[in-house]
Amino acid sequence: MRSSPGKATSSEMTAEGLILHLQRLSTEDGPGIRTTVFFKGCPLRCAWCHNPESLTRKPQLQWLERRCIDCRTCLEACPHHALAKDEDGSLHIDREGCDLCEVCAHECPANALEILGTYTTAHELLPELLKDLAFYHQSGGGGTLSGREPTMQVGFAEELLQGLQAAPVHAALDTCGLCSRATLERLYPLVDLFLYDLKFIDPARHRRHTGASNQAILDNLRWLSSRIGQEPAAKKLWIRTPLISGATLSEENISAIGSFMAGLDGCVERWELCAFNNLCRDKYRRLDMAWAYGNDPLLAQAELEQALEWACGSGVNPQIVSVTGKARSEL
Ligand code: SF4
Ligand code: SF4
Repeated sequence: MRSSPGKATSSEMTAEGLILHLQRLSTEDGPGIRTTVFFKGCPLRCAWCHNPESLTRKPQLQWLERRCIDCRTCLEACPHHALAKDEDGSLHIDREGCDLCEVCAHECPANALEILGTYTTAHELLPELLKDLAFYHQSGGGGTLSGREPTMQVGFAEELLQGLQAAPVHAALDTCGLCSRATLERLYPLVDLFLYDLKFIDPARHRRHTGASNQAILDNLRWLSSRIGQEPAAKKLWIRTPLISGATLSEENISAIGSFMAGLDGCVERWELCAFNNLCRDKYRRLDMAWAYGNDPLLAQAELEQALEWACGSGVNPQIVSVTGKARSEL
């Protein structure tokens, strides 16, 4: 795996992909124990995003303040003079001047500088995914393509899914749904479970909070549910809705999503309401990114229960609805 693009190493698997990392023993990305591949690059800009490192589709340099011993080796090492220390000891990265040569990361004695994003191929990655076959078979798990957004790298995603199918290993695709129909049709035969994000029904709100139209997302979901409805024993569809104060968390929005889902011929197996998570604050700092939700607390237990009540009363089968994530402590 590489931090710069290169030539693929297999004549059969040629698509190169950019990933953040691979997470073993995951229990949150589909059924059973799974290995999740986190893709880098997303077409949305959700204001509450929990994975800011996955937004851009190019590698990024990050500084881990807690590891830094203030030796200033990196300032001398950078051939482009793209690093400077502020008076408070913070490292300033000139991201326009930095060409991601990695010299600073190699020279740093404290491993306080890292490049986020690795170029790889399915040929290189599949052996890693298949290492945990025993866990998958015992637990009903498998592999999940996530991040955001696997569909942005469709050739690479397709080759990974083909490898999982050949193994055979259960394959899940975690998607925001914003892709072309052609992409969805290309990946459809290779996916056992679709984890599909649905944030808003109202187009204006979707655009305001995510920066993009939800027209394709809704159209793709209608198409997907119709296809899955033709072979419900072979394919599954889970919907995931983040619960975000001042954005998705309202009776009007949760009810509208439920009504929309109720019209999808009952083929949604699970609707997960995912509680806001603020553990990603440090990630924003490391990438010099502002975060509008940086000071927001976790939701209260009462807010999660209210959302569950709205969802269960929205017209879907209440048995498919669940809440994931933590509430804040009220102590
Ligand atoms: S080389 Fe590493 S430890 Fe030294 S100042 Fe730079 S980031 Fe900090
Ligand atoms: S990656 Fe290279 S160009 Fe960028 S800051 Fe480090 S040494 Fe400088």
